[in-house]
Amino acid sequence: MTLSYVALGSNLDNPRRRVAAALEELAQLPGTRCLANSACYRSKAVGPGNQPDYINAVAALETNRPALQLLRLLQGIEDRHGRQHRQRWGARTLDLDILLYGNEVIDHPDLQVPHPRIRQRAFVLQPLFELAPGLSLPCGATVAALLARCPRRGLRKLAGTNSSMAGVQ
Ligand code: ADP
Ligand code: MG
Repeated sequence: MTLSYVALGSNLDNPRRRVAAALEELAQLPGTRCLANSACYRSKAVGPGNQPDYINAVAALETNRPALQLLRLLQGIEDRHGRQHRQRWGARTLDLDILLYGNEVIDHPDLQVPHPRIRQRAFVLQPLFELAPGLSLPCGATVAALLARCPRRGLRKLAGTNSSMAGVQ
């Protein structure tokens, strides 16, 4: 089993409900258990054009699926949420990214782990820190140190959402 951290993001079609639904779907993936999920956050879109705010969260999964298979399973969930792969960083109903997969470094045409933009994204680092305050990347950088250096860009925790450590003993 491998511990993997997955980022969720949505800025279309009721993003809050969509992220909540996607968290449930992650927990149902074959060979996979959801150990914990962060609270939900609201962040300003970084992509092209004038896009609505994003809702973001991070889930900690324990999985027996190899990383590429996990990616395909996540893409299946994205597709079921009607995601259209038209514009990179464009508005999307659901974005699921593998942030970390154990302590592995993966450089495949379809999959780079750790996720290449993890260091610049407070909306990923903050919920990741909430779930695992002592976590380091394979390179040795701590999530805490990366977060301390990362501009917040208006990131806000959503009232009424909390991290849940359901599967953690
Ligand atoms: P971003 O998530 O950076 O906003 P996109 O979701 O638009 O960008 O990019 C999707 C592509 O990213 C997919 O085709 C997928 O193969 C690739 N990709 C590379 N590394 C990862 C990763 N760690 N997690 C998810 N997708 C990844
Ligand atoms: Mg993505």
